[in-house]
Amino acid sequence: MHCPNCNGKNLGKIGVQVYYCWNCYIEMSIENGKMNLHQIEADGSLSSLNDLFTEEELTIPEDRMLL
Ligand SMILES: [Zn+2]
Repeated sequence: MHCPNCNGKNLGKIGVQVYYCWNCYIEMSIENGKMNLHQIEADGSLSSLNDLFTEEELTIPEDRMLL
């Protein structure tokens, strides 16, 4: 799995099905094979970045989900 934003693999696991990209500081939570991307704002709230990506980019192929 890699970050759909920067294509980096510098991801940290911060929870069950939740990852964090250390390159671009976005959080990825995985639900039903799809990624939800959020940016963590200075005040700690999350804003969705899903609008910036296509369905295809947010869908994780099943064979890669466990990697
Ligand atoms: Zn990234």
